[in-house]
Amino acid sequence: MVHAVYPGSFDPITNGHLDIIRRALKIFDILTVVVMNNSKKIPMFSIEEREELIRKTVRLENLSVMVDHSDGLLVDYADRIHANVILRGLRAVSDFEFEFQLSLMNRKLNPNIQMMYLMSSSDLTFLSSGLIREVASLGGDVSAFVPQPVIAQLALKFKGV
Ligand code: ADP
Repeated sequence: MVHAVYPGSFDPITNGHLDIIRRALKIFDILTVVVMNNSKKIPMFSIEEREELIRKTVRLENLSVMVDHSDGLLVDYADRIHANVILRGLRAVSDFEFEFQLSLMNRKLNPNIQMMYLMSSSDLTFLSSGLIREVASLGGDVSAFVPQPVIAQLALKFKGV
């Protein structure tokens, strides 16, 4: 059984993330999406909100995925839940350098866990949670780019803007 962990900030989950999840389900036997705290980013949504948005999205889309959150080291988390793969998405060359560093560091920390990457779909490469937060906070319509539960949550957050 190949169990993959898909980690990220998911602040919030976008159609880009959802595309990676859908494609990962065709490859791996078990998929756990885990919301991590990124110390370099100040989140818009709390960990609980981000996790709940992912849960609602996968339920709505009928996707058999486990959803969790973790504060610690990613490789330790993967080890704890007996996952053998860490999955990440790659949008552009700009993602590559950081992901390359991350993958080498994770391999040093735990050589038993493989880092694997899925290239973003061409119509979704421009999508990032940061851009969604920015457009939504300025009153722009992001409904074509995020799952339905996120549209509702953003509307609540920016009510009156
Ligand atoms: P992080 O803060 O860990 O980068 P993100 O939530 O921004 O978390 O992204 C989680 C993962 O999903 C990363 O590997 C990122 O490259 C990938 N990702 C984000 N947006 C897209 C997209 N539009 N298409 C493909 N992969 C994506």
